[in-house]
Amino acid sequence: KRVPLIAGNWKMNLDHLQSIAFVQKLAWTLKDARHDFGTAEVAVFPPFTDLRSVQTLISADKLDLALGAQDLSAHDSGAYTGEISGAFLAALDCQYVIIGHSERRTLHNETDEVVAAKVEAALRHNLVPVICVGETAEDLEKHGASAVPVAQLRAALAGVTGAVDIVVAYEPVWAIGSGQAATPDQAEQVAAKLRETLVELLGEDVAAVTRVLYGGSVKAANIASFMRESNVDGALVGGASLDLDEFASISRFHK
Ligand code: 13P
Repeated sequence: KRVPLIAGNWKMNLDHLQSIAFVQKLAWTLKDARHDFGTAEVAVFPPFTDLRSVQTLISADKLDLALGAQDLSAHDSGAYTGEISGAFLAALDCQYVIIGHSERRTLHNETDEVVAAKVEAALRHNLVPVICVGETAEDLEKHGASAVPVAQLRAALAGVTGAVDIVVAYEPVWAIGSGQAATPDQAEQVAAKLRETLVELLGEDVAAVTRVLYGGSVKAANIASFMRESNVDGALVGGASLDLDEFASISRFHK
């Protein structure tokens, strides 16, 4: 009942010209392989300056790829120099927006309160927030794996009730870009705890349909092992999402 989501977070890579070439090739590769998007949804999260180009390509070629942004403002409009409104993302046919990525939490001092405000902003504009949570190596040692991710999820959902469409991404900070992924068992244990938290906060029905992704050094060689876990419903892929063959193979993990 939960269609897996394979999400490529490009971070600050590929300009708008490179994005067109990449997405075109990705679409061809998946088409050649007769990828069934009903079996695994595939989404790309390019930099803001690429969104218009990728949107145009997706609509002109009627591609099944979903589009998302990497961040948004907590505000809808006004004197916020350099910020991007959720309204602008919705106008570009973005379906998703990543919120609270660990790089934004650490490099841009995003607090749990900011993350919560951004989640509300996304929902105001009918964007599906991909809420990122995860513990550092230090948290892991001190508190175990799930305490920090669960607390971050509670905080992110502080202003949310009812039948909301959200995605949760568990990304242990120590696994991001390190080449050292969590084990499938570790990912499953935290994903299960996150789902329990969703049951408590949003109810059984919402928790049952909400996708919980794993992220952190996902590649073609390890995706199948994560996808075998019952509470892991896809992946948020960084580095490997920039390699066409690698990302196409990850998207086709079920084959
Ligand atoms: P890597 O896949 O490069 O480890 O990055 C994960 C990530 O941060 C995705 O948001």
